[in-house]
Amino acid sequence: TREVHLARRPDGMPVKDDFRMVTTSLEAPGPGQILVRNILMSVDPYMRVRMAKLPSYPHWELDQVMDGSAIGVVERSEHPELPVGAVVSHRLGWREHAVLDARRAGPVRHVTGIPLAAHLGVLGMAGFTAYIGLTRIGAFAPGESLYVSGAAGAVGNVVGQIARILGAGRVVGSAGTPAKVAYLVDELGFDGAFDYHVESLSDCVAANVPDGIDVYFDNVGGVHLQAALDSMNPHGRVVVCGAIGEYNALREQPGPSNLIYVLTKRLRMEGFTIREHMSAYPAFVAQATTWLLDGQLRSTDTVVWGLGSAVDAFRDLLVGRNIGKMLVRLSED
Ligand code: NDP
Repeated sequence: TREVHLARRPDGMPVKDDFRMVTTSLEAPGPGQILVRNILMSVDPYMRVRMAKLPSYPHWELDQVMDGSAIGVVERSEHPELPVGAVVSHRLGWREHAVLDARRAGPVRHVTGIPLAAHLGVLGMAGFTAYIGLTRIGAFAPGESLYVSGAAGAVGNVVGQIARILGAGRVVGSAGTPAKVAYLVDELGFDGAFDYHVESLSDCVAANVPDGIDVYFDNVGGVHLQAALDSMNPHGRVVVCGAIGEYNALREQPGPSNLIYVLTKRLRMEGFTIREHMSAYPAFVAQATTWLLDGQLRSTDTVVWGLGSAVDAFRDLLVGRNIGKMLVRLSED
């Protein structure tokens, strides 16, 4: 079986030589363990941060297999609750097979009409992050206007869709290509969207949200945050979800020079990490499953095939070649 190791810490944009494909022999599961053949694995922006060695953020060791969310099927079991054939989600991605304690895996409930990939995207951490960020951190209320950056990505597209479902006054998103902008408006029902490759981001945000922003969901940081602050309404909320504009940067990126608006507009700006909200996850899955089944919410993903393409998929994610959740398929269901 094969797994992907971190060979060295990337300097800026990761390159192929930062990783190594390693073939190992399969272990047999011990008592209480299961052997899983992985079907799908997730690649996520936070993985770029794990590849570096930063204070107060867990890093990956060199010459070790990386990890991340995955879904697979149990092929051998030493635990009665997860028998052979069970489909499970777990944290040992970046490998074709995983041996793990059964208590570190959760069963994936099959629901007719919902593809397996949705469990790593709209029903997984991406969708949950969107939901918690919008409702709990952003305290989004019906009738309010929402602006989300990184809007065509895994988290961003769900933020906009849930805001619509909750009765938003206006939903606007920004993304990096005209095709993504069209997708947001034509397929996902955003009221407005624009390509952020413009001369003045601030003017573009203002033109798209003429009545101002009540909740800004920030996936990008830097100049995107600055542009949004210019258009925030009094008592607006800024949800600091991510700063993808900074993850690959070789030097520090300029920050907003207009933070005075947090004071003058009495804004609330709050960051969060989804791992601190896991107790709300089952309720979210139940709610989002209902929305998916009645057609209010759509699952969007970009899937590439094979562990040998996982590094490319990760690199593609960082430069925006995905619409929705970026996934790697490792085997058939
Ligand atoms: P995405 O699916 O959104 O993929 C990343 C996207 O970022 C790309 O598709 C690309 O789209 C965009 N991007 C890349 N570089 C830049 C740049 N320099 N400026 C603007 N956009 C850029 O990933 P996720 O949905 O998984 O994650 C979105 C954000 O949410 C990330 O910042 C991530 O770290 C964060 N996050 C935070 C969590 C938390 O607990 N707080 C949990 C999960 C995610 P484009 O073509 O539009 O440029």
